[in-house]
Amino acid sequence: MSATYNFCAGPAMLPAAVMQKAQEELLDWNGLGVSVMEVSHRSKEFIALTEQAEADLRGLMNIPDNYHVLFMHGGGRGQFSAVVNNFLGNDGRALYLTDGSWSNAAVEEAKKLAGDDKIDTVNIVKKENGINSIEIPKFTGSVEDYRYLHYCPNETVDGIEIFESIECPWPVIADMSSNIMSREIDVNQFGLIYAGAQKNIGPSGLSIVIVRDDMLTLPALPQSSIMDYRLAVKHGSMYNTPPTFAWYLAAEVFAWLKAQGGISAMAAINKQKADALYQYLDSSNFYLSKVERENRSQMNVTFYLQDESLNQQFLEAAKQCNLVALKGHRSVGGMRASIYNAMPLCGVEALIKFMQDFERSVV
Ligand code: PMP
Repeated sequence: MSATYNFCAGPAMLPAAVMQKAQEELLDWNGLGVSVMEVSHRSKEFIALTEQAEADLRGLMNIPDNYHVLFMHGGGRGQFSAVVNNFLGNDGRALYLTDGSWSNAAVEEAKKLAGDDKIDTVNIVKKENGINSIEIPKFTGSVEDYRYLHYCPNETVDGIEIFESIECPWPVIADMSSNIMSREIDVNQFGLIYAGAQKNIGPSGLSIVIVRDDMLTLPALPQSSIMDYRLAVKHGSMYNTPPTFAWYLAAEVFAWLKAQGGISAMAAINKQKADALYQYLDSSNFYLSKVERENRSQMNVTFYLQDESLNQQFLEAAKQCNLVALKGHRSVGGMRASIYNAMPLCGVEALIKFMQDFERSVV
């Protein structure tokens, strides 16, 4: 049997080397005779793991010293509420840019917690002739208008990515759940970055928060202690028992990324993978992309068959070739190939070859 390539949007494939190492040491971690799942999060061995994980992440993303790195519960959606509860207090307002499903979901949660009147939104997607593109307005106004601007630089469902930086007078909060560590970014441009882990970091449930220290002086609402950034900082992300196995796997993914040459090396491969797939889509009359070139996601490549009645046949034939989880999200239909850091170039090449063969077999 040839290798299975898993294009799932999340939980997504993890690097094979990381999974193998986890398997080898599952029952006996660090010579302790027990699994990493079975040791205290306060043991010196586990604390050493967390220190190494943080140091590796700081090195990979070049995170400045005035930022805290938190390992929290609750995935991406947990952070939708955490940012509101931690930063809006009783009278704060926030501005949300919307460019697809997840930024809209963040708005819904923010309005639920803060009230509709405290959350302003700007839709930055332009649709012309069925093609989506991003248009970011010039933001004027004063620093007092909003506590933060929230946006989602990679919309996992829609396959839209924003590569330019957001210029505005307010701290920028970015939901990088599906593109964190896929390319180099300047952390200094953000007040806070968060990401659910299950795409480029590790297993689901965990989320990573990178927050500038001055953000923690903003007034918070009364809230659940485990989502309180200040408590998380104070307790080294161990106010309560953290998701230790997910943290361990994240640490292994960071070590793997370092061994690959870090984020710049990863970014080069990611660009190569995405370029190959989009070039093929553009050259074909059988498939199409509905995203403008400058905003095509390098992580989630959404595409459609011109003849949508062939969708099911396409998915079944792909599965026969060990290419799995290509179905697009039900809200947008079509197909989606999620090609995160762990997807090797040969996986994308296998997909393109399959797509060519499929086209030949039906026309
Ligand atoms: N934001 C983005 C960009 C996502 O892709 C997702 C999940 N796919 C979420 C937030 C929600 O993450 P979770 O399911 O971990 O709450």
